[in-house]
Amino acid sequence: MSTSKKIHLIAFEPHLEFALNLDRNDPLAKYRTAFHIPKDEQGNDWLYFTGNSLGLQPKTTKSAIEQELNDWANLGVEGHFEAKNPWMPYHEFLTESMAKIMGAKPIEIVVMNTLTTNLHLLMVSFYNPTKKRHKILIESDAFPSDRYAVQTQLEFHGYDTNECLIEWTPRTDEKLLRTEDLEQILETQGEEIALLLIGGVNYYTGQYLDLKKIAALGHAKGCKVGIDLAHGAGNIQPELHDSGIDFAAWCTYKYLNAGPGSLGGVFVHERYAHDKTLKRFAGWWSQNKATRFNMRQPLDITPGAEGWQLSNPPILSMAAIKAALDLFNEVGMNKLREKSIKLTGYLEFLIKGLNHAQIEIITPSDSNQRGCQLSIQVKNANKDLHKKLTEQHVITDWREPDVIRCAPVPFYNSFEDVFRMVKILKTLLP
Ligand SMILES: *Cc1c(COP(=O)(O)O)cnc(C)c1O
Repeated sequence: MSTSKKIHLIAFEPHLEFALNLDRNDPLAKYRTAFHIPKDEQGNDWLYFTGNSLGLQPKTTKSAIEQELNDWANLGVEGHFEAKNPWMPYHEFLTESMAKIMGAKPIEIVVMNTLTTNLHLLMVSFYNPTKKRHKILIESDAFPSDRYAVQTQLEFHGYDTNECLIEWTPRTDEKLLRTEDLEQILETQGEEIALLLIGGVNYYTGQYLDLKKIAALGHAKGCKVGIDLAHGAGNIQPELHDSGIDFAAWCTYKYLNAGPGSLGGVFVHERYAHDKTLKRFAGWWSQNKATRFNMRQPLDITPGAEGWQLSNPPILSMAAIKAALDLFNEVGMNKLREKSIKLTGYLEFLIKGLNHAQIEIITPSDSNQRGCQLSIQVKNANKDLHKKLTEQHVITDWREPDVIRCAPVPFYNSFEDVFRMVKILKTLLP
């Protein structure tokens, strides 16, 4: 909180020279060169604002993957133990960095599978419907994949989605969620709700919800609480352990820069680390490491989040994740977040400075309630605006009917990027 207060005191100025000066004084500016920035035909960097969709490639990724390809070529199966980074415990090389990024203990973290798959596996353990308590609550603007996952879990257990899927909705004429409204829903239906599954940072509005509060409200009514952090991981600091939530899942290809379709991350709170009574779907990688290769042992679940693994993991994807997480480890989330608040604050300042009647920023203006993304509504605009931005190599994301999602990423975006983006946007506005 103190960080954001401090930053609000900076008087921004709407000039290129001012933006360039912020870049000159930015201790993280040098990390831009650690990434491949796509370029136009003239060799100018694109203005890339879609790190919320696919983060850019670290320059170290290629050699990290090549290392594993070479070890495979030279060692074959022996690579499981003899590779420079032995494949057998490879996922463990990711755990500590990921735990730091998410504010978790290592025993609470594992990297495995993909996000939606993990949501299902976690619901096997944390959605245990009973006759009296079987509803699931999501936010009305939930990402489609999460909605489909929850819907099909309900159907799998024989429940009707229309009746059993409860939506936490913004008030009429509002776009953001209010925790008081969640409290109200839980007051009336809490005893029938088995699980809250909520996007910690909403993909559409960019709103960052108070996870600790949500956990406390849900737990007070006996509900399990799971959080999707696809838009939170590597963006905000969710302090998962302290938040008290039961579980979380996220992907690594958005702000974590680990490459298209890369594996997901999972958090299961320490209180379940040795709980062998939880239902789960298991595979040989769920088995305790000491006896995993005896092959004939009865199932003995390995402690912590690792106990949710099924399969031996894809090392090539993990190599890309390791390269990306090593960069996060080098810089640390505190510094990234500090720059992020400033960078997005500058974007907000410039957009507001356009003073345009048709523009409204949907995302909360309080930096404690958002990550780096701003969702900019341009009333009466259509997808043509997005097309024109893209033609000028301003890469943003369009959400129907009229919202541009723009995510300046502290790792590789500059204040100059932000300045140039708003300047181009201005020329395209109706
Ligand atoms: C990006 C995203 C997904 C994507 O799921 P995958 O299984 O990785 O394809 C799911 N949920 C949310 C909230 C997302 O932002």
